[in-house]
Amino acid sequence: MKAIRVNEHGGPEVLSYEDVELPDPGPGEARIRLAAAGVNYIDTYQRTGLYPKETPFTLGLEGAGEVESVGEGVEEFSPGDYGAFAMAPGAYAEYVNVPADQLVPFNVTLVEARMAAAVMLQGMTAHYLSHSTFPLEEGQTALVHAAAGGVGLLLCQMAKMRGATVIGTVGTEEKAKLAREAGADEVILYTRQDFVEETRRLTDGEGVHVVYDSVGKDTFDGSLDCLRPRGYLVLFGASSGPVPPVDLQVLNQKGGLYVTRPSLGQYTATREELLWRAESLFSWMGSGNLNVRIGGTYNLADAAQAHRDLEGRKTTGKLILIP
Ligand code: NDP
Repeated sequence: MKAIRVNEHGGPEVLSYEDVELPDPGPGEARIRLAAAGVNYIDTYQRTGLYPKETPFTLGLEGAGEVESVGEGVEEFSPGDYGAFAMAPGAYAEYVNVPADQLVPFNVTLVEARMAAAVMLQGMTAHYLSHSTFPLEEGQTALVHAAAGGVGLLLCQMAKMRGATVIGTVGTEEKAKLAREAGADEVILYTRQDFVEETRRLTDGEGVHVVYDSVGKDTFDGSLDCLRPRGYLVLFGASSGPVPPVDLQVLNQKGGLYVTRPSLGQYTATREELLWRAESLFSWMGSGNLNVRIGGTYNLADAAQAHRDLEGRKTTGKLILIP
């Protein structure tokens, strides 16, 4: 089968479209014929080596498609079923063997397989951020950075479902429009405006209850200054680079603030939690309550271009690869 391999760490040019062998699914595994693979920022970290992973490997963690065969002991899935996953390696490929306990079944007549691939990782991330890490409540205000990004557009929608007021930050006017369509009540162009000043102004000087910050290095300090006393900074990404070490005394000086740095794996650790989050997404998509925007569709062979666009801040919503 064809797959995108990383033989050495580096820029997008190291992504190599190759023929590879796929063994039969092992015990507990299901083989999926991928309808699409999702592109995520974490794929760029694995490509560059920022997140260590031994080479060579097939890139990609997210996808969906039809179950072709199952290994010993798999009872929940049979050939012909459809399944989606967010945290199983080897998704930039035509086929992948996935541990069946990582696979979420979906009804392909209600949710198209490409859409299932598009929503899993960023959707469950937006879900845990808004429902578990800082469970938003009616009347609270959230600041969402990169609000027109893959996670951003979904997080705006979920924050609105929970009754919060949402302030989004974005890089361009086009992105501002998308963030507003996703429910953001106010949008700040942080490439032109001082987002701290604007957030203070929009909250009558009080600050927000929570900042969801995926941008990292460039926004972290400002994000602390956007919070009301005892507010929460949820740092969940590093799109502009990792945040340097923090002097904890700063949290005291700025109002007894909280900071957490969560990952999806911690919030999908049990099968029950994984299914709760993923099935909530599929149900909202089926009923038209969650809009998943596919901002770019690429052939699998063009994965490098998808990475260039994502890292170049050129994209909105979700990018998918079609084998
Ligand atoms: P996005 O679609 O949000 O793309 C990144 C966006 O970040 C850009 O479009 C850009 O939007 C903004 N950005 C700001 N500064 C920079 C910069 N210097 N370089 C590049 N982009 C910049 O990506 P994803 O939705 O896939 O992921 C967003 C972040 O969330 C990533 O950091 C990712 O690692 C993290 N993440 C974390 C998870 C977790 O569980 N901890 C799970 C999933 C994602 P603009 O032009 O509007 O500024």
